[in-house]
Amino acid sequence: MRIDLTGKTALVTGGARGIGRQVCLKLAAAGARVIINYAKSAEAAAALQSEIGPGADTFKASVSKETEAQAMFDYIKKTHKRLDILVNNAGVIKDNLLIAMEMSEWDKVLDVNLRGTFLCSKYAAEMMMAAHSGRIINIASVSAMKCSRGQTNYSASKGGVLSFTRACAVELAPKGILVNAILPGMIVTDMSARVRKRAGGMILQTIPLGRYGEPEEVASLALFLSSDLSSYITGQAIPVDGGMTVT
Ligand code: NAP
Repeated sequence: MRIDLTGKTALVTGGARGIGRQVCLKLAAAGARVIINYAKSAEAAAALQSEIGPGADTFKASVSKETEAQAMFDYIKKTHKRLDILVNNAGVIKDNLLIAMEMSEWDKVLDVNLRGTFLCSKYAAEMMMAAHSGRIINIASVSAMKCSRGQTNYSASKGGVLSFTRACAVELAPKGILVNAILPGMIVTDMSARVRKRAGGMILQTIPLGRYGEPEEVASLALFLSSDLSSYITGQAIPVDGGMTVT
């Protein structure tokens, strides 16, 4: 069965690199118009825009800054007139042990991962409510459920995203908006490079499928959750983790 998103507009935060990039490619291949949000990766965003072609647009904004997030949604309203799909993908890690953790490390991770998800969802929901339909897909993490040393800030932020997803699903269901979270396990991107290098062997032992995930494998679920095939799924948190969370 082919997923057809022709006529739909999607915003992917942090869409220029890693998982977000693959989400942009999959949504665009299904016919959606894709807005690639980026904070720092201007070149990568421009390269992806030309790879996708006329169906792509870019917007620079830090999702954690209210004025920038608001400006992005004002632009989408003015230029694209509609928003059908929001993928809250932007995320950062700043690992440190609890007693050594700097306030700046705590704040940065909570700001981008949780506050950014809140801000974009708030403005997107406003647009989607007018159309009485929409999909919000939050890229959380297995770290919301299965925790590692040095990640109190990251786990707290992703656990927050998980509860936020459920609360949004309840509030927005009567408005025709479905909200779900994806929980990636260990996926091959820049974000996981250091930990894969440091503890790769040990991590692989905890993954029943015996390998890391590819960004495309996370993007496939985002595509499904953006489509009519998932019309009765909301408030859920679905792992894409090679079985990591069941061990
Ligand atoms: P990545 O390759 O490091 O990419 C992170 C993305 O987030 C970049 O596109 C970056 O954009 C964007 N970003 C960071 N701060 C931002 C801000 N303030 N405003 C807008 N965008 C911002 O990481 P990834 O692995 O693809 O991660 C994508 C998502 O998956 C994250 O939410 C992450 O927590 C989650 N995740 C990843 C893994 C994994 O193993 N890789 C596992 C579980 C969950 P710029 O480059 O433009 O700054």
